[in-house]
Parts: sequence; structure tokens; C-alpha cells
Amino acid sequence: MTPTHIEHIGIAVTSLEEAIPFYEKVLGLKCYAIEEVKDQKVKTAFFQVGQTKIELLESTDPEGPIGKFVEKTGGGMHHIAYAVEDVTEALKEAEEAGCQLIDKTPRNGAEGLKIAFLHPKSTNRVLTEICGKK
Ligand code: ZN
Repeated sequence: MTPTHIEHIGIAVTSLEEAIPFYEKVLGLKCYAIEEVKDQKVKTAFFQVGQTKIELLESTDPEGPIGKFVEKTGGGMHHIAYAVEDVTEALKEAEEAGCQLIDKTPRNGAEGLKIAFLHPKSTNRVLTEICGKK
């Protein structure tokens, strides 16, 4: 695959409402969208920093992936997402390269993007997302 840039960095928080002021008041960024992603059991808040976004993730279900992560760790840095042209194609290439996948096929993410996660076992323990328009 050929990622064009880091699309976003995902950060798990206990509460968007409590987390947003740091990004707006200290970093001077503007939250331009809040969106619920039912598939991932999260509510997301987005900030643009150059080509990259910060994606804050608040769990909407304690049994969801972010709910469990926050329960275990208290929240914080969760994943890095790389922008690719074609997520399906990128997954195929990753698998052929011996990478363990969490998602065999793309799922629906925030902002109408297709997303898929690679397994931390194959990514030096960094949960890695690839996302793109198809
Ligand atoms: Zn993400």
C-alpha cells in the first residue's frame, strides 16, 4: 500500500465534553464535527491540524472497543490512521505481506470513509487503521 498521509490520530476519552476544551482553549484548534459511529460504538469529535485530524473517541457502550479500552487504561492514545486510495486493496496487500488483520473487509467509519484495522501483533503494538474513500 502507499499511504498519502496520516489521516488522523485516534484518542480515547471518557467524555468529549471534558476533553474538547484542551484542544480548543490550549491548542487553539476548532472542533468542526461531532459524529456518532454506531458501527464502532463511539461518538467522535474532530479537529483539523494540517492534513491530519485528531479524532477524539467517547464510548457509547461499555462493551464496545473504546469502552473496554478506557476501562482498562483510563483512555489516551488509541490508534494511528493512514490514508490510502483503496482500503480493500490495501488490506489485501497487508495480508499478503504477512500482516494479521482485525478487519478482513472495510467497515464504515466517520466522515463517510471506509476503515479497517490491522492487528497490533503485526504493527509493533500500535493499533493501526487504514482509511480511504473506497
Ligand atoms: Zn480512527
